[in-house]
Amino acid sequence: MVSASSQATSKTSPPGSIPIIDGHNDTLLSLARTGRSFFDRTDEGHIDLPRAREGGLAGGLFAVWLPDPERAPPPGGALDPAQVSQRAADVATMPPVMELAHAQGAAMAAMARFFQLEREAAGAVRVVRTVAELRECVATGVFALELHIEGAEPIDPGLDALEVFYQAGVRSLGIVWSRSNAFGHGVTTQFPGSPDTGSGLTEAGKALVRACNRLGIMIDLSHLNEAGFWEVAELSDAPLVATHSNAHALSPTPRNLTDKQLDAIRYSEGMVGVNFHVGFLRPDGERNVETPLTVMADHVDYLVNRLGIDKVGFGSDFDGATMPSTLSSCAELPALLDVLRERGYDDPALRLLGNENWLRVLGLTWRA
Ligand code: ZN
Repeated sequence: MVSASSQATSKTSPPGSIPIIDGHNDTLLSLARTGRSFFDRTDEGHIDLPRAREGGLAGGLFAVWLPDPERAPPPGGALDPAQVSQRAADVATMPPVMELAHAQGAAMAAMARFFQLEREAAGAVRVVRTVAELRECVATGVFALELHIEGAEPIDPGLDALEVFYQAGVRSLGIVWSRSNAFGHGVTTQFPGSPDTGSGLTEAGKALVRACNRLGIMIDLSHLNEAGFWEVAELSDAPLVATHSNAHALSPTPRNLTDKQLDAIRYSEGMVGVNFHVGFLRPDGERNVETPLTVMADHVDYLVNRLGIDKVGFGSDFDGATMPSTLSSCAELPALLDVLRERGYDDPALRLLGNENWLRVLGLTWRA
């Protein structure tokens, strides 16, 4: 039996119901691509509000992801469907570096969609900027929107945009996606492969880390190469967090974390959000949707053994990656919890994995 080391419990959840805070989704991109409404139940994509309620998804980090210029949508238009295959979690070759002006325009469009969700929701969803607000959402069943930027391309070297984005509500930043930028270098998903792909952060990247610490923006280590990871580990005064990555020992993609990286995350009191993308779960790296949830549970077990039950959560990659057929949307999250229950995780342990670990780490990272 895997038991929680903490006695903390979610006060308002009925027995057996575990609200899930998700460390990563690409739902803003999916909404733009498909034109579907976040508030209507569809079979498109992986997250909408009705399916979130059905599956116990309480909210999560919504990524602002930046399409390449040649595939960017016209103003107000829909994304080219080809963009989505490029967006898929598998990135075999390094995309070109992106211009600041294009990146800022794309970020504005994605952030506008994000804030419009709250405006259109009539109180059913809320943008959260503090841990108190997030806790309140989990307790009351209001869906929590947390704003994350996946790749610092829209941020100028002087970091003016970082200040503005923070004031708007950005509370999490991945220094890179799977490309290089002015701040550091991301990894591809060439399988098998190591995250040790060359040099780390630039001087601007180091300044960005310090600025994020000062503002209380969580730095997301998923996608960053290993040299960059170690520089963040050295510089940052916040817990080390990889919002959507798995164990390299079980699935050796450069997107997953080596044992040494996991140890550093443990010592920093950080955490890892388990990524549901089959290509980052399977030992063979195949994008095979017929991947049983026991393979995902293997990663949870491995990470819990290496980090502790209080340093693992979920970072699905819903709406941006290939899910197992038995977890084809957030409505099916209870199936994952059932598999974990069969592995011996009791309800206090599942509450830690589901939401309390994210609340703890965000509490140590955000300034409020
Ligand atoms: Zn990602």
